[in-house]
Amino acid sequence: MQSSRVVTPGDLDRPIRTALPWLARGAAGLARLGITTPREALWYLPFRYDDFSEVRPLNALVPDEKQSARVRVDAVRVEPGFGRRPQRVIAQLSDDSGSAEAIWFGRRFVERRLRQGDELIVSGKVTQKGWRPQFTSPEFTPVGHESVHTARVVPVYHLAAGVTQKRLRELLARILEAGLPALEDPLTDAERGDLLPLATALQTVHFPESEAETTPALDRLAFDELLALQLTLAQARRAREELIAPAIRVAQADVAAIVGALPFTLTGDQGAAVAAIVEDLASERPMRRLLQGDVGSGKTAVAAVALACAVRAGWQAALMAPTEILARQHHAGLAPLLDGLGVRAEFLSGSLAAARKREIHDAIADGAAEVVIGTHAVISEAVDFPRLGLAIVDEQHRFGVGQRAALQAKGAGGEPHVLALTATPIPRTLALSVYGDLAISTIRELPPGRQPIRTEIRDRRALPRIEQFLASEAAEGRQSFVVVPLVMESDALQVASAEAEAERLAAALSGVRVALVHGQQKAEARDATMTAFAAGETDVLVATTVIEVGIDIPNASVMLIEDAERFGLAQLHQLRGRVGRGTDRSFCILLSDATDELAQARLAVVRGSQDGFEIAEADLRLRGAGNLLGTRQSGLPPLRVASLFEPRHLALAQRARDLADTLVAGGELRPELARLQADFAPIEEEGDAA
Ligand code: ADP
Ligand code: MG
Repeated sequence: MQSSRVVTPGDLDRPIRTALPWLARGAAGLARLGITTPREALWYLPFRYDDFSEVRPLNALVPDEKQSARVRVDAVRVEPGFGRRPQRVIAQLSDDSGSAEAIWFGRRFVERRLRQGDELIVSGKVTQKGWRPQFTSPEFTPVGHESVHTARVVPVYHLAAGVTQKRLRELLARILEAGLPALEDPLTDAERGDLLPLATALQTVHFPESEAETTPALDRLAFDELLALQLTLAQARRAREELIAPAIRVAQADVAAIVGALPFTLTGDQGAAVAAIVEDLASERPMRRLLQGDVGSGKTAVAAVALACAVRAGWQAALMAPTEILARQHHAGLAPLLDGLGVRAEFLSGSLAAARKREIHDAIADGAAEVVIGTHAVISEAVDFPRLGLAIVDEQHRFGVGQRAALQAKGAGGEPHVLALTATPIPRTLALSVYGDLAISTIRELPPGRQPIRTEIRDRRALPRIEQFLASEAAEGRQSFVVVPLVMESDALQVASAEAEAERLAAALSGVRVALVHGQQKAEARDATMTAFAAGETDVLVATTVIEVGIDIPNASVMLIEDAERFGLAQLHQLRGRVGRGTDRSFCILLSDATDELAQARLAVVRGSQDGFEIAEADLRLRGAGNLLGTRQSGLPPLRVASLFEPRHLALAQRARDLADTLVAGGELRPELARLQADFAPIEEEGDAA
């Protein structure tokens, strides 16, 4: 192995080619993972580990466990590929206790690195093949050559095309060796307290000696991330103390008239939300309120009242959704309500003809357009919004800093009041530590007359019957969603599995029209597929989690989620909320072969409850320590390390919040803290990543 050189602190943020010229050949691959500098590499964390540290004699290997063995290669055989079957390399292995086989598929470089008589450490998963154990695609290294791949706890990273797990691991090991000595800890000793030094934590998270070591190491990284988040929140709190919004005063009688003109009576929770919003609007401090409630709980109705109130008081209002199709749905749902309230709502979309767009821009500019509904992007590029008093953002917990600036620049200089709508319920403890600067209204009570969704847990053996069910629903004119398993390793793999599943279903269910949506499609293509499905032109929609948010298809009656145990409970609940929106009885089928108790308990929570808050709280309780790095936390800030479902991290969030308040009150941040903040940039919400 080439000896690594140590770099200077300044090198950490230079391009890898210049900072680490001896690794220049790896730079292109790293760039595909979004890693351009040594610092980014240090922070490119594994999402799980394979524990191969147990080295066992061949006669003591345990089927289905990850383990290692020290072996001799007795023979190597290459079976050429044939048709669709890939080439296979098969090695006969032995040690003093017995023998085993190892097999690799389609991996040409393997045969070149294996010779009869070699002494190897092999690490991998073992299955019993006849009378002998078999390693499938194990990692291997010659005995006497230390390696980051075998006989130890091995990190597993997200990959991109053209970068192998092995290559990435080797590159990261060398970057850590060269870069960590140059890394300065952004925290002072006093601030750090009992947490590990940053360099130690990073080294351990990448290459732990044991999995247990990763807990304190991750705690340290989580703290840095939470501190970055809390610094931004503390600054926002401070900055907001100086902002002025229009005081939108609406008389009680007007509010009552608006509410009374709705085609239904508000539920108690809806009424309380309306009252809180009316009070916020009347203040000169800009409203920052989060309205959370399950799908169908009646948030849109509350939004309609808020929009009408702003207009009644002489202001303009905007409602922004993350995608065009959601914006269109909002317009379709709101326009009749607003119409009944005497308010004119325009729909503004990127796909409108230029002339029509200009018309709407003009109507906004001269104040004729009272309410505008569209996507975030389209509304922020609208030229002029002279009397914007209220902005409602859908499916977003937080108004992005950039978006706010854009809107503010359009307006009369004042700050709009902001109401965010979300169907992802957040338990109170969590909300307080992450959204301490938002006021929260919660709708828990559903409007009368909702049909419960029948939820079942099934294993794969039931799949043929389930598919017949999808076909019979299609024959009766109802539609189904099929959500493919979450693949942590890479988006590309998940897309591939979605494509394969769509093909398989189309072949298995003759006469059923199957469509596919996933996050790597262009937004327009995805919108077109969703629109066609909404119009009933297809029967089964195979999807990655892109369909999680918002979309309303009343005719859909079945939600089938494959390998359901891989999803967060809140996410399962969200997905289930895609059905049961019409008058037909509907079903949610959680397909899972997981047999462990925790997985079953988690799925049983979703089966047993239709209340998003109850589910979120149970999730928090059940996840406890066994939490996976990188699990997507729908609706929460996109945290990379910290898990707000982890009680230890919740405590760290509180500690970070206190520290952030002190630091921000002390004036300008130390440069290393400012850079920590920039590195994590946690506040801007991610797009609707699949
Ligand atoms: P959300 O936006 O939270 O998903 P919506 O506001 O779209 O929910 O409401 C879902 C459905 O329930 C809509 O058809 C709406 O007209 C209806 N609805 C809302 N509030 C009430 C209510 N208080 N009573 C009866 N129906 C209601
Ligand atoms: Mg809605």
